[in-house]
Amino acid sequence: MPEKKTRSKAAKKNVGICYLVGAGPGDPGLMTLRGRECIELADVVVYDYLSNVDFLKWARPDAEKIYVGKKSKDHTLPQGGINQLLIDKAREGKIVTRLKGGDPLVFGRGGEEAQELVAAKVPFEIVPGISSSIAGPAYAGIPVTHRAHNTQLTIFTGHEDPTKAESTIDYEQIAKAPGTKVMLMGVERLRIITGKLQEHGLDPKTPMALVRWATTGQQQTVTGTVKTIADVVEKAGFKAPAVAVIGGVVGLRKELNWFENRPLFGKRVVVTRTRSQVGGLSRELRDLGADVLEMPTIRIQSSEGAELRAFAEMVKDSHRYEWIIFTSPNAVDYYFEMYDKLFTDIRSIGGARIAAIGPGTVQRLKAHRLEADLVPETAVAESLADAFETQIGSLENLTMFWPRADGAREVLAERLIDAAVLLDEGIAYCTVPETDDPTGAVARFREEGADVITFTSSSTVDCFFEMGLELPKGIKIASIGPITSDAVRKHGHKVDIEAKPHDIPGLVAAVRKICGA
Ligand code: SAH
Repeated sequence: MPEKKTRSKAAKKNVGICYLVGAGPGDPGLMTLRGRECIELADVVVYDYLSNVDFLKWARPDAEKIYVGKKSKDHTLPQGGINQLLIDKAREGKIVTRLKGGDPLVFGRGGEEAQELVAAKVPFEIVPGISSSIAGPAYAGIPVTHRAHNTQLTIFTGHEDPTKAESTIDYEQIAKAPGTKVMLMGVERLRIITGKLQEHGLDPKTPMALVRWATTGQQQTVTGTVKTIADVVEKAGFKAPAVAVIGGVVGLRKELNWFENRPLFGKRVVVTRTRSQVGGLSRELRDLGADVLEMPTIRIQSSEGAELRAFAEMVKDSHRYEWIIFTSPNAVDYYFEMYDKLFTDIRSIGGARIAAIGPGTVQRLKAHRLEADLVPETAVAESLADAFETQIGSLENLTMFWPRADGAREVLAERLIDAAVLLDEGIAYCTVPETDDPTGAVARFREEGADVITFTSSSTVDCFFEMGLELPKGIKIASIGPITSDAVRKHGHKVDIEAKPHDIPGLVAAVRKICGA
């Protein structure tokens, strides 16, 4: 029937697609490029316990994010429910990205989900990921194959209870298989499993390691032998999720333990910058091995309405000023965001000289091919005002434009106006408290505390304390500079270390110092 045909065609057009994406074992750098693209494209992101929550930052702000995690016993949504969710969302015409820890097809039920999608005629794509079975050992300095040790690799699940009659895991086969053996899941059943393997002839002296939260700042590794490992694990209070490796290759860890030897490994460091700025500082700390908790306390947004219009007018008049003053990298960004809307030619900025408060701002200006003509020795407003007076002399009747934040300190404006500068202040952006916690960092901070907390501006300090979070005992406070330190003291806390120079590399160095690294 013709009508029917038309209808089915229309319905077909409406079906979206489901990407089954391997999210890797935890380190955000171990996501594939295709995986990242699928997150960026998604209308709906479906994720669970082991996939790194940081990935959600790549999703569009309006994308729907659905947690369907499974913590061993408490299944948030049963598998059938997850399958149905993927199908329903795709049938609404949406692009659904299903993130799965490691590789979707290595003990990840990705195969089952794909079959369901086929049955429901939902188009899908499988994006392989880096499996914890390989990456976990690698980050513990254990190569799963090595010519001197093995020519075979067996990956098995310890999920099933081996004492149960219906267990399908053949421990006899596994015990007899030559080479390296990697076990996923099964930490809870370790004693029974290693017992079974020995019963079936595996040499009790075979080296064995367990790697927990592998590839993240929380990674923890224990080693022993097939005979001793259950005791080691019990004594260490070591829990899932962990990958177990059995075989001679475990011995290579002594030589190859690259990740856990990093200077900040084992230290939990809080970063309170805005979500858009957090990246650089976090990456540097992570590269040094720290367990970074990203807890932005403020969010920066463009000004609005009359303020925005007034700011736009001033940007448009840039060429009329003798000086343009930048007191933060954000101000540079918001200035050029507006500039790009108004002009297509870089020369429209005219001949204004440029003042910058400190190295971070200078850096951002350089990215726009602008050199600063005036930079004070220390990155604070007072020093900038001093620098104007000492280096320029009389400021009388000089025209200046200061693109600034709503609520920024008034010192600079007061000093310049006192010196008879004709100052135009344009509100380029404002800071508002960040209330979102998509990475669960705030929750982790509450539960587990941290070794160091970093503050990069007085507003991050104020907003942090407004959140009503308790500072755990023994936590060290690292501040980027004197104004930020003052803000910390105003809230009744001691600053343990202040960055010198007052920039991100200085702050990273300060964190290292306070950690003795
Ligand atoms: N598809 C996943 C495995 C899912 S099964 C993959 O390819 O990695 C879940 C098990 O994977 C956990 O019980 C644990 O054994 C292991 N696992 C996943 N991520 C891990 C991590 N970061 N550290 C240690 N083990 C991990």
